[in-house]
Amino acid sequence: QEFVEVLEKARGSHGLERHEVIVLLQARGEEVDALGRAADGVRAAFLGDEVHLRGIIEFSNYCCRNCLYCGLRRDNRKLRRYRLTPGEILAAARKAAGLGLPTIVLQSGEDPHYTAPVLADIIRRLKEEVGVGAVTLSVGERSFEDYRLWREAGADRYLLKHETADAALFARLRPGTTLQDRLLRLKWLRDLGYQVGSGNIIGLPGQSLETLAADILLMRELDVEMAGIGPFIPHPQTPLAKEPPGELELTLKVLAIARLLLPRAHLPATTALGTIHPQGRRMGLCFGANVIMPDTTPPPYRYYYQIYPGKAGLHEEMGKTLVSLKNLIFSLNRRVGSGPGHSPKIQGGM
Ligand code: SAM
Ligand code: SF4
Repeated sequence: QEFVEVLEKARGSHGLERHEVIVLLQARGEEVDALGRAADGVRAAFLGDEVHLRGIIEFSNYCCRNCLYCGLRRDNRKLRRYRLTPGEILAAARKAAGLGLPTIVLQSGEDPHYTAPVLADIIRRLKEEVGVGAVTLSVGERSFEDYRLWREAGADRYLLKHETADAALFARLRPGTTLQDRLLRLKWLRDLGYQVGSGNIIGLPGQSLETLAADILLMRELDVEMAGIGPFIPHPQTPLAKEPPGELELTLKVLAIARLLLPRAHLPATTALGTIHPQGRRMGLCFGANVIMPDTTPPPYRYYYQIYPGKAGLHEEMGKTLVSLKNLIFSLNRRVGSGPGHSPKIQGGM
C-alpha cells in the first residue's frame, strides 16, 4: 500500500491494520517530514497548543527487579542506592509547585520498602498539604489492593509502560515477569479509575518493525490516556551494555503514528529522546508530543537515578532547566499548560 494512502487513512482517525502501521514505520526522507506534520496537525486539532509540564520526583532507586536494559536493576552493585523520606518528597513537591509545576509524577524502582499505606499517606499529603493538582504514580507492578489504596488516597494517574508487545522478548528482558501480568495490571488500573499510561522502548535488541507496530496497536486497543515512547539507551552496568541505542528517527516515527492513532493521549517528549539528541525534545514536540516531564528530584539523589547514562539536563539547576524548557515551548509558538492537565477524556480535562 502507498505511504500517502495509509497516512490519509490514519489522519482520518481510522484504525490501521498492522501492515499499514509498518508502511508508516518504513517512511523515509520527505515521508518522515509528512508523517511529523500530520501528527503535529492532529495534536493541534485535538489538544491545542498547551505543553504540560509535570515535575518528576524519583524518590527511590532501589529495585527488586532485574530488567536487562535498566541501570537500576538489582544486580547493578556499582550504583549508590538512595531513598527519599516522606518529608523530602513533600519538600521536593513544594519546590516544584513554587517553580510553577502544578502536577507531580512519583517514580521509583520496584521498592517494597514503601509499603502501600506509607505511599498512600504521601499521596494524601501531596494533595492536601502541598496542593498538588494531580499525582501520577510510576512505581511498577504491585497488588490490586495497593493500587486501590493509592487511588483512594488521591492518586490520579499511573504510568506502567508495557515496554514491548512481544511476549517472548518481554519475558527475556524482564526476568520473572510476563507481559500478561503487566497487561492485567493495566486493566486493574483502568478499573480503579486511574488515567492510565503505557508506552514502549524503541530499539530494544531483538525488536522488529512488526513488534513496534504491535506496540502502537496495543496502546490504541488499551485506549491509554498517556504513552511514554522513548529510545533504548544502553547502560554500561547492564547485560545490554554493548547494544546500539534506539534510533532518533525511528522513535519520532513511532511517536507520530501513536499521535495519529491516539489523538487525545498525552504524549511526552521523553527525557530519553532529549538524551540521544540535543534537539530531541524539540523534535518530539513537533512530532505529536504535548508533555514534558522535567526532573525535580533534589540533588544529589538525581545523579544516582541512573536508568541510562547521560540523562538530559542532569547537571542543570531546576530553575534554569525550566527557563530553557519554557523558551523551547515559546519558540514553537506553543503555550505552557495550566492547571492539572487531565486527559481530555475525563471531565475537566485539557
Ligand atoms: N520501576 C518502574 C517500572 O519499571 O515501571 C518505574 C521506573 S522505570 C526506571 C521507568 C521506565 O524506564 C521504564 O518503564 C522503562 O521503559 C525505562 N527504561 C529503563 N531502562 C531504560 C533504558 N536503558 N533506556 C530507555 N528507557 C529505559
Ligand atoms: Fe526496576 Fe523499573 Fe528498572 Fe525494571 S525498569 S529494573 S522494574 S526500575
